[in-house]
Formats: sequence, structure tokens, C-alpha cells
Amino acid sequence: MAKKERLCSFCGAKEKPSSLLFDGIDAYICEQCVTRAHKLIQEFRDDLPKKTKKGEADVFKLDKQPREIKQFLDQYVIGQEEAKKVLSVAVYNHYKRIDYYSKKQNDDIEIEKSNIILVGETGTGKTLLASTIAKMINVPFCIADATVFTQAGYVGEDVESILSRLLQNADYNVAKAERGIVFIDEIDKIARAVDNPSITRDVSGEGVQQALLKLLEGSIVNVPPEGGRKHPEQKFEQINTQNILFIAGGAFDGIEKKIASRLNTNVIGFRKQETAINKENLLMHIASQDLKSYGLIPEICGRFPVITHLTSLSKDSLKQILLEPKNALVKQYTKLLEMDGITLKFDNSAIDSIVEKALDLKLGARGLRSIIEHIMTDVMFDSTTIGKKLTITGKYVQEKSADIL
Ligand code: ADP
Repeated sequence: MAKKERLCSFCGAKEKPSSLLFDGIDAYICEQCVTRAHKLIQEFRDDLPKKTKKGEADVFKLDKQPREIKQFLDQYVIGQEEAKKVLSVAVYNHYKRIDYYSKKQNDDIEIEKSNIILVGETGTGKTLLASTIAKMINVPFCIADATVFTQAGYVGEDVESILSRLLQNADYNVAKAERGIVFIDEIDKIARAVDNPSITRDVSGEGVQQALLKLLEGSIVNVPPEGGRKHPEQKFEQINTQNILFIAGGAFDGIEKKIASRLNTNVIGFRKQETAINKENLLMHIASQDLKSYGLIPEICGRFPVITHLTSLSKDSLKQILLEPKNALVKQYTKLLEMDGITLKFDNSAIDSIVEKALDLKLGARGLRSIIEHIMTDVMFDSTTIGKKLTITGKYVQEKSADIL
């Protein structure tokens, strides 16, 4: 019996003595199809970096004065006047500096970058400030949690993955990513062991600080566009971090003691009465030396020339946060129910009860969301049976939120 003719299962070509036909399980592929597939894979691989080149030439200019920046922040962030002011000026200077260098002036004045550290308890608005600034000036923004990073060679994320995220948020446009804003949360948790009162600190903190330094120093960093850990076959995108604004945030638990002892020892031969300085006052005086004695390495402190603090939120501020910002929680839920044809109201006692509970939880404004979500889940679950009007009362809030710990 004649041998059965073999055909390429992809293009149908007959097997020829002059070229190869590879056989697999129930299928064949000819040399030409393999070559074509290889070319397609190559093109696909090359596509990502090509995508990133678009828009390189677009010019960016910040057309807002610090006062206007602050006015924008006021719409979203309640209180925190000092932080908003300091941040507005720092951001203004940062983008002015980019403008200065883009014009390549020949005078030799070097304008330093104004990376910022925000010190304040959890839920006081540090992330909100950074993200609102990015929204206002319309630059790519990403949040990175310092605790997930490890020094090179250890299990965990490489610090370069921060830039992968920024690049993704910039739609793979390198030029845009290079003037974006990175928020590094929980920077206090990578403080080194020396003198650090925090028990949750990362043991390899100092190594991570060293790794972060590379990004902060304004260097060209090889970034895997799709993130993940580096491996030899990976394609890299080069990102210059010189114009990326880094904003770091941390609670720096217990830093008041460092500030107090510095303030006391600074006045030689005269000890101020510690009792006269309360916790709020102390944070007001925060300085680079305090971050250093808390465990940030001097090089990191040097890369964050702007330091400001956020105050803990009072009852009134929490109330305002519930009701006033453009995206206030009460407004959001009212809108959601309005879409179901229901008029939602929170009476005064409900607002007071939510705020009281949030103060108990000690999570700052972060607690407000979990409380409201908890209360509203049942309501929204049965929204079709509610009728046209719904008023949430203090009693209802107390009942519903009793089991939130
Ligand atoms: P932090 O980064 O300080 O831990 P966030 O900025 O993430 O806190 O705030 C947590 C939540 O609380 C956010 O949903 C934010 O909307 C709200 N929030 C916190 N502080 C404020 C503030 N000062 N004004 C308005 N909303 C706030």
C-alpha cells in the first residue's frame, strides 16, 4: 500500500523532500508555518515598547498657582490646612522645575526635587491628598505599599514594580509616566531596627530603603512593563525617574517622643516642660532629624526635602467628611438610591452616631466608610421593598453598627 501523503495541518501544503514537516499529536506543521509563527511572536513581543513611544513629544505645563491647587484640594479634603498648603507649594515647584529643565537654561542653578513625606495617623487623608493632586494636574498616579517590597534577591516585589504600575497607569506612555506621581504608603514600616518602636517593622527595612533610594535619586531604571519579578528573558522599558514626584506617607507611631526629646535637648541648659506640648503640637514640629532617629536612613531623608503632618480628625471634621466633599459618602449613597427612585436621608442623630462609632474604631475617616457600608448593605439588598422615602436614624445606626469592632 502507498504511503499516505502528509500535509501541513496549518496551511495544507504537501510534504516536500526539500523542507521539514514536524509532526505532533494528530497534526503536522511545515517549515514555512513555523517561520511565519516565529515572526508573529517576535512582532507581538516588540509591540509593547513600540506602544510606549507614542506621545513622547507632548508638552506639559502646570497652569495653576499654589493657591488654586489648594482650592482644588479643599473640595475633596477636609481640614489638614497645613498639609494642603505645603503640598500645593511643593507640587507647584516640582512642575516649575520640570519646566525649567525642559528649557535647558544655561545658568548653573540646580533646582532640587521636592519629594514630600506626609506624617499622620491612618485615615487622615494622606493617600487622598496625593491622589487628588494627581487628579487635578492630570498626571499618571500609582500607590505602592512599602511593606511589600524586599531588597534584591529576597522573596517579595522588586521596587521597580512601582514604576511598572505607573507605566501601566500611563497607558504605557513612558514620557507621561516620567512626570507622574508615586505615592509610597507605610514608609514608616521600612524603618530600620535601630530605635524603632514599631513592632510591625519589616526586618529587611534598611535593604528596601537602599533599593528605594535608586528610584528616588533620579536615575534611569529598567522596568518590566508588565510588572512581576525580573528574569533574564524579560523585556525592559527604561524610565527616567528624575521628574517623577514621590510622595510618601506614614503614621510613624511614637515619633512624638523623638520630636519631644529633640525639642528639649535643642535648648541647651533649659528644659522645656514636656507637659506643655501636646501630641498635636509635637507633630507640627516634625523635622528630618526625627525621621532619621525613627529609622529612615539619612540618604532617604535627604531625598524627601519636604515634610508635613496631618492632624487626627476631630468629631466636626469627621462630620464634614461625611457630608461635604464632592464625593462625600452620604452624597454617594443618596445618588445610588436615587437611581432606584428612593429619597435617602440621614437624620442628625444618625450622622452623630456614625461619627461616634468612627471615633471608637480609631481608623480616622477610614472607619466612616466601613460603618456606612455595613448599615447600607441590608438597605440596598432590599431596596425594592423600601418605598419612595428612607430616613436613617441614630437608633438604626447604633443597632446596625454594634457588631463592628
Ligand atoms: P491615609 O492614607 O491617611 O491612611 P486615606 O487618604 O486613605 O487615609 O483616607 C481613607 C478614607 O477616608 C478615604 O476614603 C478618604 O476619602 C477619607 N478621608 C480621610 N481623610 C479625609 C479628609 N481629611 N477629608 C476627606 N476625606 C478623608
